[in-house]
Amino acid sequence: MKYNFWFVVGSQLLYGDDVLKTVETRAKEMVEKLSEKLPYPLLYKVVAKTNQEIADIVKKANYDDSCAGIITWCHTFSPSKMWINGFVNLQKPYCHFATQYNKEIPNDEIDMDFMNLNQAAHGDREHGFIAARLRMPRKVIAGYWQDTRTHKRIGDWMKAAVGVAVSKNMKVMRFGDNMREVAVTEGDKVEVQTKLGWQVNTWAVGDLVKEINAVSEQEVDELMAIYQSKYDIATDNITAIRYQAREEIAIKKMLDKEDCKAFSNTFQDLYGMEQLPGLASQHLMSQGYGYGGEGDWKVAAMTAIMKAMGENGNGASAFMEDYTYHLVEGQEYSLGAHMLEVCPSLASSDTKPRIEIHHLGIGMNEKDPARLVFEGKECNAIVVSLIDVGGRLRLICQDIVCVKPIMPMPKLPVARVMWRAMPNLTDGVECWITAGGAHHTVLSYDVSAEQMKDWARMMDIEFVHITKDTSVETLEQELLVNDLIWKLK
Ligand code: MN
Repeated sequence: MKYNFWFVVGSQLLYGDDVLKTVETRAKEMVEKLSEKLPYPLLYKVVAKTNQEIADIVKKANYDDSCAGIITWCHTFSPSKMWINGFVNLQKPYCHFATQYNKEIPNDEIDMDFMNLNQAAHGDREHGFIAARLRMPRKVIAGYWQDTRTHKRIGDWMKAAVGVAVSKNMKVMRFGDNMREVAVTEGDKVEVQTKLGWQVNTWAVGDLVKEINAVSEQEVDELMAIYQSKYDIATDNITAIRYQAREEIAIKKMLDKEDCKAFSNTFQDLYGMEQLPGLASQHLMSQGYGYGGEGDWKVAAMTAIMKAMGENGNGASAFMEDYTYHLVEGQEYSLGAHMLEVCPSLASSDTKPRIEIHHLGIGMNEKDPARLVFEGKECNAIVVSLIDVGGRLRLICQDIVCVKPIMPMPKLPVARVMWRAMPNLTDGVECWITAGGAHHTVLSYDVSAEQMKDWARMMDIEFVHITKDTSVETLEQELLVNDLIWKLK
């Protein structure tokens, strides 16, 4: 789906034709110039002067699948009672852009005509009131429309809004159930479909095995050529890699047939398969599909959504798992990995990921699975976990700093990422555990905490952010208050 955003300008009939014509001309100029700087097209729609015009444009936005959100602006004053009937029906993300056409107050020219035409400061306050009064989920972005910082903020919001659209169309294919006895990967599928739009359903592992066995040698050859161009093949066991290619092709066919953008599987249910998909899942993730291990369909969907919110619609976001700590003073780090499936979008650009074959003791593997092995890159990042706390969903986001792994770990047979959680390792761990965050997360280099907050607000779910300024005490207080608030909602 190619998404776009609609630019709706608020005004009123009081100003007369000349002023309204000027407003329209300037709005079109702004849209044209802004579109060159933003990640998605911005389309001029209307200078709205009446209740009917606003109600009409909202109806059209709601019914247009390509419209991922509306951005409003008030060049002049737009009485906000005329927005009520439209706004109560608005089903798309909404951003109030508080800007004005002119950057400077023109000292020599300014008179009352200028003031009446250029009164965004006046109009924005009336416009902001009605969204506050209606308790609408919204993003307010203030700044001059030609400033780079403003472009970045609108662009980031657009990507979060696209995350909303992707979420509402999300279909997750499950192979097998959750890992036996695990709690945090469970969740209410009816609740996620109601709140987030996700369709989470199961398909038989046996059907996947039939697809795997039906893949042709020529299809495998073609995918092997892609593996060879992207990765270093650090094994002689080509048969094992070809089996992963076969698995990838079969999973992709099933996902595409059902229009699923994410999938989960479990090492406890691999009947008829020779290997747990490792390289196969990793290469599927690099193409934008979400994945969750051990039946974790929540993290699978979140991975796909956050990938879509990233650079060029397939950013550096990946399924991750907290594994083990390095607790040496001054070098406190977490080591994250998974038994196989870490997306190569996290790989440091120093070296190509290597395809290696190693024994995997856990699960039903008949043969040793191929997987990509690499190091994550140095970068500020976030980890995100969606949990079902009973009666509602909570999205937990923690700021982290990824470092080059401080040791080579030559016997570790999987891709690895090393980071320091904010505010520091021990407080960060205490905060994460206090909030109930899972061991599975989405780690992202290019989606920000602000974007995840915007996304959570648009989806109407609880958001908890652990930052450099968070303490266990303030977090406990916040969670207590949140519990009360969300029971009232
Ligand atoms: Mn896991």
